[in-house]
Amino acid sequence: MTNNVKCIKCGNEFSLLISGKPMCLRCSRDEIIHRVKRNLVRSGVDLRNSSLTILSPEFYSGVGEILANLIRKVCEPCNVSLRKEVITGEPDINSTIHELVVKVLESENRYFVFPLTADFYLAYLIYSSTRSLNGAYLNLYGLRVNVGEKTVLNLLYNTPYTELRGFSELTPRLITGDSLFDSILSWSHDRFPDNEVFHTFSPSVEELTRLFPRCRRCGAIISAGDYCKACEVDLSLVQ
Ligand SMILES: [Zn+2]
Ligand SMILES: [Zn+2]
Repeated sequence: MTNNVKCIKCGNEFSLLISGKPMCLRCSRDEIIHRVKRNLVRSGVDLRNSSLTILSPEFYSGVGEILANLIRKVCEPCNVSLRKEVITGEPDINSTIHELVVKVLESENRYFVFPLTADFYLAYLIYSSTRSLNGAYLNLYGLRVNVGEKTVLNLLYNTPYTELRGFSELTPRLITGDSLFDSILSWSHDRFPDNEVFHTFSPSVEELTRLFPRCRRCGAIISAGDYCKACEVDLSLVQ
């Protein structure tokens, strides 16, 4: 980008690309707020007097915080009660997601928000196909997904972490602690700096996950049987 590129919305100094469009920091934040609002409406969940739990692994707690502020902002008259919960997470990304899912299953609440971003899901798709689809949680991708009887909203499923740079409270890079996953994530950021791919890779994921049997408890992809390995351990089906 050359120095004479300006924010497409207000003409101020260009800072980052939002789905390929140059924007200043302030307009990029407005765009994200707008997207979260649109996703809340599209999810069809009636937030009036409802209670939502924003459930984050520790490495996403900053995004969870931003989402809490945005939901309050876009839904001021809704009287929504927001709870934030952070889990420590594991060095292995599938174990971390398993922990999130079990938290949802065991909670008394009905509605949850995950802070996972579009780039996370793209990296996760590549990670799962290089490593193993067994035990993978590709079923979680989408704006509104069911986990058991519960509803999970991924309000940032179409927004990569790199488009949240306008929120100064975030660290510049997302580091999960799973080294293979982190290297794929960082490769995808270097490879797709205009962020456009993060908005377009999605339609096949749902089709893909439909092809495989899934764990009866947590929904992870399995090759045979009723439960994934992690649930077999949780349920003490194996020693
Ligand atoms: Zn601007
Ligand atoms: Zn399972």
